[in-house]
Amino acid sequence: MNYLKLAEEICNGTKQIDKKQCLAILESEADWIEIFSAAAYIRQYFKQNRMHLNILLNAKSGICREDCGYCAQSSSNQADTEIYGLLPEAVIFKKALIANKNHASTFCIATSGTRPNQKELKHLGNIVKKIKSQLKLEICLSLGTVTPAQIAYLKDCGVDRINHNLNTPEANYQRITTTHSYQDRKQTLAYLKNQGVNSCSGFICGLGETNQELVELAFDLKNQQPFSVPVNFLIPIKGTKLEEQWTLNPLKCLKILMMMRFIFPNTELRASAGRERHLKAIQPLAFLIIDSIFLGNYLTAEGAPESQDIELLKMLALDYVK
Ligand code: SF4
Repeated sequence: MNYLKLAEEICNGTKQIDKKQCLAILESEADWIEIFSAAAYIRQYFKQNRMHLNILLNAKSGICREDCGYCAQSSSNQADTEIYGLLPEAVIFKKALIANKNHASTFCIATSGTRPNQKELKHLGNIVKKIKSQLKLEICLSLGTVTPAQIAYLKDCGVDRINHNLNTPEANYQRITTTHSYQDRKQTLAYLKNQGVNSCSGFICGLGETNQELVELAFDLKNQQPFSVPVNFLIPIKGTKLEEQWTLNPLKCLKILMMMRFIFPNTELRASAGRERHLKAIQPLAFLIIDSIFLGNYLTAEGAPESQDIELLKMLALDYVK
């Protein structure tokens, strides 16, 4: 298989990658270097040397009645995590100011729980309005299975995107979460599409999925036409059901990102939570095929120090200043 030729055809719009080719990327051996070069070619063609920075705020933490097996915030898990209600407007705005100063193009606000209640929704809507009127920042909200009415309200307030990950392949979903289904996740994405609100939707790999299932998930995502695609790598947190689940290795993570670049040549592709721990020394290679990262901490886990990521971006001559 000539992946460089395929990359050229993808760039000139005459071909798309198919599932069999994707599986071959995940199962590549010595030929991974040629495939990596082709993925980097696609990145360069569509994204040049641009890297989007996203800064994430956990605006409401813990006591979630959903039972996602990877999540420290689920009441079903015994993880030691911070618990607090929705943060006051002034605190969230201060975090947005810092994100703006640190060159973030997107400020992401996440809340734990199935979905916000009416009071929380109003609070978030007011914050979105304030940030959009005062700062040059895009806002992405991650609020669970939001309803069509909630989406319409947030759209009126000026939200740019709503995050809703598919998380893990349909075939693996009930092994990880039983309180809602894969179809529920897809339903929320359908609501977003119906309302004309851009989605940010990706997954967490390392949850016990097979390569074939991961390919199915990636193509399901492609059908949702997300604006941005975060790829998370499971951080097994002590006290969660998946605390022992270390199934990834650096090259496997890189191959997943390579496959995703072929499937999403011109979509914002983000290496998200867990990138530092899983990609380890080959993380700079990943930066050459993705075009988006989170800077700083994740929801319940620490990320790399911001200065370390900025240094890496500078070393690779990647342009992160908006
Ligand atoms: S991932 Fe979200 S919905 Fe699932 S347990 Fe954690 S906070 Fe709740």
